[in-house]
Amino acid sequence: MKYYSTNKNAPLADLHKAVVKGLAEDRGLYMPEQIKMLPKSFFDNIQDMSFQELSYVVADAFFGEDVEAEALKQIVYDTLAFETPVVQVDGRIYALELFHGPTLAFKDVGARFMARLLQYFIRQEGKEQVNVLVATSGDTGSAVANGFLGVDGIHVYVLYPKGKVSKIQESQFTTLGKNITAIEVDGVFDDCQALVKNAFMDEELNKHMKLTSANSINVARFLPQAFYYFNAYAQMKKMGKADNLVMCVPSGNFGNITAALFGHQMGLPIKRFIAANNANDIFYQYLQTGIYDPKPSKQTLANAMDVGDPSNFARIYDLYGGSHEKVTSLISGATYSDEQIRETVLACYKQTGYILDPHGSCGYRALQEGLKDGEYGVFCETAHPAKFKETVDSITKGDVEIPERLAAFMRGKKESVPMSKEFNDFKAFLMSR
Ligand SMILES: *Cc1c(COP(=O)(O)O)cnc(C)c1O
Repeated sequence: MKYYSTNKNAPLADLHKAVVKGLAEDRGLYMPEQIKMLPKSFFDNIQDMSFQELSYVVADAFFGEDVEAEALKQIVYDTLAFETPVVQVDGRIYALELFHGPTLAFKDVGARFMARLLQYFIRQEGKEQVNVLVATSGDTGSAVANGFLGVDGIHVYVLYPKGKVSKIQESQFTTLGKNITAIEVDGVFDDCQALVKNAFMDEELNKHMKLTSANSINVARFLPQAFYYFNAYAQMKKMGKADNLVMCVPSGNFGNITAALFGHQMGLPIKRFIAANNANDIFYQYLQTGIYDPKPSKQTLANAMDVGDPSNFARIYDLYGGSHEKVTSLISGATYSDEQIRETVLACYKQTGYILDPHGSCGYRALQEGLKDGEYGVFCETAHPAKFKETVDSITKGDVEIPERLAAFMRGKKESVPMSKEFNDFKAFLMSR
């Protein structure tokens, strides 16, 4: 399979190049040249397949031309060693719980899949070690670090701002050891990002070691999220509730919903989609007006969705040939203030006992307001409420239980390398490795 750039001004890339480079030469995002339709027989039997089995069929359609069948199967089975259950919350509204992976983040799947795919390509070439640099404000660092943990041939450096990530988040990438090095930067997130960007541009450093990124726009990170939606459909079908299915995705950079839309293009019978936003309503405004007008991001309670210029908009635009009409006929939007997010967490808890996190809150509310007669709705619960314990407890006056997996991270011993925000210090450190 060849991949083209959404800016249409870069050479076609093969999968290996698209994964290692992440972004095309013209700063566009890579798109597969073809999206294969899956056969009717697959959808007829999907309810009897396991998450791993059905995901392998989807993965084969995307990556089967470029990765040997047995290796691809192993990558898929290794990545999806947990369940993403669909849980009834209220009437015709169901939660698709995407937070049962290693760091309780839905980004775990993409991170792990990318790690294993990169490892496959490195082994094929028998080349030297690859070093992944990632700057994080919290969640991405933990998903990437755990995804790459123990994957030989790859070393990961996670740069994070000192004192600016929560203890839970910090423990998820500073206690791992092995091939993961945490670097505690005396600065803010932007300083971390600047260090990473400078490192990629430094000639001497790139001669010294092979560097790559694990950015969320990487095809190997976003496409595997399509598995979630086939699995959700399978579970709803098993319950006899898959007709007129509405899928609602709390969105920030729009990678998750874009993967769902790829699934739809492959024949997945979802009737329509809702993109739920917090106060960062750029996509919502685009749906209303046809004009895409990025803005600086606003801080909200659902902070993983605080994005003012969603990177995957370019993919959605490209997928529908730039037609606003096509986009709006399939996707609608919703936008909620912090006040509404709080209100919804509380009301849902009181009425159903289900504890939403601030991101899922947007998804649940969008279905409550938008579901029509005869439709069933599934929203993605993208984070475990314990990850936003302070916020959630303050709303429900409760005490969300911290899952054992999180607690275990917090018991680990923190190890990180203190670093100034000066590039020369960071470079000297990497040159000494
Ligand atoms: C990353 C994230 C989102 C947004 O997903 P996108 O793919 O960027 O749209 C939503 N909720 C949580 C908890 C996240 O971590």
